[in-house]
Order: sequence, then C-alpha cells, then structure tokens
Amino acid sequence: MKNYLWPLMAVLMICAAPIAVHAQDEAPFPFEMAPEGNTLDEPAKEAPPPKLESLLKLEMRVALIRAASLAEISGNSNLLITSAESGARLNTGDVRTITVRRDPHGIRINHFVFPITSIRVESPDGIIAINGKRYRGYFVLWDNGKGTFDLVNHVMIEDYLRSVVAAEMPKDWPVEALKAQAVAARTYALFRRQEMNENYFDLETNVMDQVYGGVANEDPRTDAAVSGTAGMILLYKNRIARTFFHANCGDRTEDGVEVFHKVDTPYLKSVPCEYGRKSPYYTWQLSIRMNDIEAALSRAGLHRGKIGSLSAQNHTRTGRVKTVALHNGRDVAMVNAIDFRLALGPARLKSTRFTIHKQGTLVIFNGIGYGHGVGLCQWGAKGMADKARSFREILGKYYPGATVAANVLASAPE
Ligand SMILES: [Zn+2]
Repeated sequence: MKNYLWPLMAVLMICAAPIAVHAQDEAPFPFEMAPEGNTLDEPAKEAPPPKLESLLKLEMRVALIRAASLAEISGNSNLLITSAESGARLNTGDVRTITVRRDPHGIRINHFVFPITSIRVESPDGIIAINGKRYRGYFVLWDNGKGTFDLVNHVMIEDYLRSVVAAEMPKDWPVEALKAQAVAARTYALFRRQEMNENYFDLETNVMDQVYGGVANEDPRTDAAVSGTAGMILLYKNRIARTFFHANCGDRTEDGVEVFHKVDTPYLKSVPCEYGRKSPYYTWQLSIRMNDIEAALSRAGLHRGKIGSLSAQNHTRTGRVKTVALHNGRDVAMVNAIDFRLALGPARLKSTRFTIHKQGTLVIFNGIGYGHGVGLCQWGAKGMADKARSFREILGKYYPGATVAANVLASAPE
C-alpha cells in the first residue's frame, strides 16, 4: 500500500511539477497526442484501402467501468501515475496499489486530491488491474462531469482481441471458426473506433459491443487464432465493414436493416444457415410471469401499467417478431420487439424469433436461435469449420461480397 509515501509525493509534485495542476489549461501537451494517429477516418467516396500495416500498432480504448465512484488500481511493479492531459507525473515514490475516488475538486488518489479531470495509470510490465482484474495496456480515468468517473483501458488491438475472441467463442472450437471470429471482432473494433472518434473511448465490454475480460480470459488456442489472422480485416468497397455477429441464427441470418436501421448493405443481407440445429439454443423456451414482464418493461421505460395478454404483431421476412402488442382490455400498446427483448434480458429472451402463449399466470415464449441474427453466425462458423471449411469461406458466406484484406506485414502464405 505504502500510503505513507503520498505526502512526500505531493510535496515533490508541487515543488517540481507545478503544471500538474490545472493541467487542462496547459497548451503544450494536448491530450490528442496520446492515442495513435487514426488512419481509418470515414473514407471519401473513392476510398483508398486503409493502411493495414498500422493496425497491429493501433490502440483501442475500452470503457471498463462507467460512472464509478471508487476504484482500486494495482500493478505488479511500481505504478506510474500522470496527468492524462499534460503528462505531468503525479507520483514519484514506490506505490503498487492506489484507491481512486471522484472528488468535488478533482480526482482523489489515496488521500490527495489533484485538481485535474483525467489521470493515466500504468505499470512498467504492461499489465494493470482494476479491483483485482488484470488487463494489458494502461488505464485512463476520466471525470465524466456527472459526479463520477469512467475508467478506460488503452490496449493494443491485437492484445485486446486475445481476450475478446476467447470470451466470444468457446476455446475448444475448431481453429478456423476461431479465426473467422478474430477477423470479425478486429473489424468490428476498428469500425467502432472510427465511429467513436470524438469520444474518449471506442467500445464497452458487454454483449452490446464485444465481451472483453482482460488477461484472465486468454488462452493459447484463441491467441493462435488472433496471431494467425494478424491485422486482417473485412473490407467492402475499401471501407471497413460493419461485422455484426451473434451466437446462433436458427436457420437463416437476419437482414441488417431489420435490426440496425441505417445498415442496408449487401454484405449484411440474410443468408440461409444449415448449422444451427446442433446448438443447445436452436430452440428454447422462456416461462415468465406477467408481473415480471410488466416490471421489466416499466424499468426500461417502454410501458407502464397492467398487461392482460401479449401477441406478436409483425414479422420480418426471416420470421422474427417486429412488434409485440400489449393488450389490456380494449387498450393496445405496441413495443418494438428488439427493445422488448433487451428489456426482458437478451440472455433470457434469446432472440426475437418466438411465439407467445399464455398458460395460467405464466407467459410462455417458444423461440429459435440466440442473438440478433445479423452477420456471422457463430454456430454456423463452427459447423462450417467442422466440415473443413476455411475462415475465409466462413466469412465469405456470412458477409457476402466483403473481402478479407491481408495484413501486409504477413509474408508467409496462408
Ligand atoms: Zn446460423
């Protein structure tokens, strides 16, 4: 802990590094120096291919914790703590664990308040832990202006993917499926980075983005899938593709435009998939009390009040429900089925392809597939890899028309 060193550090900081305070006003060290230069800006109409050789060195910014009031950060060696805006050093002594709190006057580290809006914490060995969970790269903590702070992990993209691929797909699945997942995840990350360019993070860590659990998830098999596809991404007309993926489409993937309304592209059109039946989620059933549905919809701000019965109203061409009607006497309210699923919990109501029955006080959903259904079907990838198809063939099936851009650094042929 070595908290006793903090008074000394504070004195040293004030004497030696006055720029540490009010750092946001300091012009010479603008924060935009910190991330790597982004070579992947939204391309013009005649887009040149992205500079792939830069991908391996690209840093992702992953928001691990939003709206935190307290965090314990630790490393295996002495932490280096700096102002993220100015680069000014905030500690000089030996400290391996710090407690960070938001303070009305800035950011409080252990017992000392620094009047700054962001700090960078790193460990010389390149691994740093938040509340005991270890990540590669370093952390930047941002005062989010709402009385709390956000903690962002800056991590090299290939290191980030080692954890993502292992979290998104079972490690014992065939390597060609893992490689297809690696390319899809890398492409998705870069697309999000391009999209979020103005923010201080690119991605979050949950199923709405990509699941990322840090060092603990990593495994030699998934590491090999990442390094075996190093720097490879999917392009469509030289632009980074939006590579959505999901667990199991059932028997047909969904049209991108049905789920992500602005996404009407050839490579996210619905395709048939014959591999979903081996999945435990090919069919599923959810029994839930009407009270619980009412509470979930109310919490999500979708609907308040009693519901007598539910019915599925409109369907997409692939049979997924578009709208759920909530009946109460003669009143009918309509809720978007995707919002309805998220409100009940996407792991409980596993897809929007379901039928609804009432059985006493219970509502029974009988469904097919798991996930939104757009893009790569993970169980489909497994099914194809089991039949000795390559990751390129898998990606070609689920993202028709998109092409795998080879990493120009890789000299060995596939
Ligand atoms: Zn499928």
